[in-house]
Amino acid sequence: MNNTISPEFIRRIPKTDLHVHLDGSLRIPTLIELAQEAGVELPANDEAGLKKAVFKESYASLPEYLQGFAYTCAVLQTAPNLERVAYELGQDNIEEGVRYVEVRFAPQLHTRDDFPIADVVAAVAKGMDRAKAEHNASDAVQTGEDIPFEYGIIICALRSFNEHMSDYYRRILGIMSYAKKKDVFAAASLEIARAAVAMAQRDGLPVVAFDLAGEEAGYPADDHHEAFGYAHKHFLRKTVHAGEAYGPESIFQAITDCHANRIGHGTFLFAEDMINNPAIEDPAMYTRLLAEYIASQRIAIEVNLTSNLQTTPSIKSVADHPIKQMLEHNLSVSICTDNRLVSSTTVSREFEILVKELPVTPQQFRNLVISGFKGSFYPGSYNDKRRYVRQVINRYETLERELLR
Ligand SMILES: [Zn+2]
Repeated sequence: MNNTISPEFIRRIPKTDLHVHLDGSLRIPTLIELAQEAGVELPANDEAGLKKAVFKESYASLPEYLQGFAYTCAVLQTAPNLERVAYELGQDNIEEGVRYVEVRFAPQLHTRDDFPIADVVAAVAKGMDRAKAEHNASDAVQTGEDIPFEYGIIICALRSFNEHMSDYYRRILGIMSYAKKKDVFAAASLEIARAAVAMAQRDGLPVVAFDLAGEEAGYPADDHHEAFGYAHKHFLRKTVHAGEAYGPESIFQAITDCHANRIGHGTFLFAEDMINNPAIEDPAMYTRLLAEYIASQRIAIEVNLTSNLQTTPSIKSVADHPIKQMLEHNLSVSICTDNRLVSSTTVSREFEILVKELPVTPQQFRNLVISGFKGSFYPGSYNDKRRYVRQVINRYETLERELLR
């Protein structure tokens, strides 16, 4: 038990969320309202019922965890709905002291013939911009006491998909009906990478990075190397969901084949027993070198504690989670939510769980918080980012003096 880091301190310090899925982070009343409007049938029409049926405290499996996304995606098919949900996500973050968010989603799950990908992304940006403008106009920000809210958008490609997931995927699968599945997945990812680069550089949208999400085991990241090569060669930053359900080799592929600047989850980074490739003769050395490389190159790990506890049977408590080893190796780790609705959590709650169950020193805690800002794909210039991080550190130190003994 760590007594010095109080819930009040956690709530008041500026925080980040570098890994949060838009479609996993709706407010339940909003989901219910939008579902009624759109004629989407939910398993229950009240908050308690939905929490019992879909958005649970704990899940039996990853597929069960993912069930809720079918409902949230179904209501996020129009610009006004996307804008509203993004605005509320911005508000909810600001409310709990989060000052920098990178919201991610797969626009190909929301697009149609008459609703192009760039319009999907623009709707989300509009909602986030509204939340940002409201906060940044406040007296506290204007006088320099509070930190302005900033955000970026991460575009997700999916490791695999089927025709039921969206019109976009149905069309690609139809056109490429003679191709091997993995070639269809690769082609779709490349097209999304092209869209991400164009939105960031041509359309002036706040797209800051490209991500690979979806079922990991059986769908290796290196199948998508062309898409990531495209993003890489166009100076777009990359993060990859890796080591969530599969071992160190998946993380290796993310940082080599996909040039990942950050890793989503990285839970099994140290799991040498999960290495399958017989060519790796010394799994212990391989994992050690991998961790050292990630540490020295400051490849940030986006850790999602509650989400991992909910979907990984071998992790029963924070004490079982490799975050302890990550901190011992001095990796650049930031605390994220993954899905505020599906994981029933907030950034503050993730920090509270951490300090309650692990003996984190004030210095380690401070590093965790500041790593989020330093590891961000900040949408402005590097000099702007440095100024922003400096402002955050000053604010953190003021609160440390005021609230930490
Ligand atoms: Zn995720």
